[in-house]
Amino acid sequence: MLKLMCKEFIMDFLSDYLDGTLTPDVITALERHLQDCEPCVAYLNTYKKTRELTGRAGRAEMPTEMKVRLREFLLKQLTKGK
Ligand SMILES: [Zn+2]
Repeated sequence: MLKLMCKEFIMDFLSDYLDGTLTPDVITALERHLQDCEPCVAYLNTYKKTRELTGRAGRAEMPTEMKVRLREFLLKQLTKGK
């Protein structure tokens, strides 16, 4: 079973997930990850909302607020537990 780290989820798959361009395998892994990862769910919701606000203009530039949140999120993920 494919297992994802938060960083991979956010950096590699999130936008493809919302675009619906992933393979079923990856989608299953993502949804499994989301089931027990609250931070990623929160992040996904924020990301979705931002995309709605910025419209469906394809590959729009990531808003500054998103960048800040993303950095905070990743930092938290990287520094917790160990
Ligand atoms: Zn996660």
